Amino acid sequence: MRGGEDLHELVRQLRAELDWARRTGLEDAPLAPASGQETPLVAESESSPARAALATITGGLDEIRTELGDCRRCKLAGGRTHIVFGVGNPHAELMFIGEGPGADEDQQGEPFVGKAGQLLTKIIEGMGMQRSDVYIANVVKCRPPNNRDPEPDEVHACEPFLRAQIAAIKPKVIVTLGKWASQTLLQTAMPITRLRGTWSKYDGTPVMPTYHPAYLLRNPEEKRPVWEDMKAVLGFLGRPVPERGRS
Ligand code: URA
Repeated sequence: MRGGEDLHELVRQLRAELDWARRTGLEDAPLAPASGQETPLVAESESSPARAALATITGGLDEIRTELGDCRRCKLAGGRTHIVFGVGNPHAELMFIGEGPGADEDQQGEPFVGKAGQLLTKIIEGMGMQRSDVYIANVVKCRPPNNRDPEPDEVHACEPFLRAQIAAIKPKVIVTLGKWASQTLLQTAMPITRLRGTWSKYDGTPVMPTYHPAYLLRNPEEKRPVWEDMKAVLGFLGRPVPERGRS
């Protein structure tokens, strides 16, 4: 059995390395297919009811929220207090995407309002913006029990809604927060230490992966690389780097 596991791990690492080689060799090659093509976050059948319903949504965030309704499409519905849809400027140039709501977010119905969220707010303000200037969402909209990672069927159920939100907002840049959101959105097993700071694409939208603010709370020395990533985002958006964060 051990040999099988080793082989599996070897294949996983090789795929990650190949991915990496492709990304570094062809900077512009999107990991995800170009806009308009299907890029499921998890393998799935094409007959998802959520996907079929969303195919008819051409409106904005309000329509998407209405379509989501009192969602029962996956097992996370049973444990949630509130659906955490997303918050911010519906025309934001910059969108942050995390993993899924934690306890505070579940209680308040808003993403990134706990300790990690307060740090995210500081990062946004350090970039010379307010929370209300950007849009903040998560890959899944209901809290996974005990803050475990969302499971593939849960991602599958939520994906059409995140995709529709991105299509409605049309951000110029997406920042994915942390390993799980970055790997899931970009469909790669590349470690976050290598993903962060490098541009990828999701449905044609540039993506900058960076560390999760919860990780920064535990590892404050990693704030500097995150700031480097945010400076790259500001540069891409043609925005000035605020004085106090210049170094
Ligand atoms: N962590 C996340 O990934 N999302 C939130 O909304 C809060 C914490």
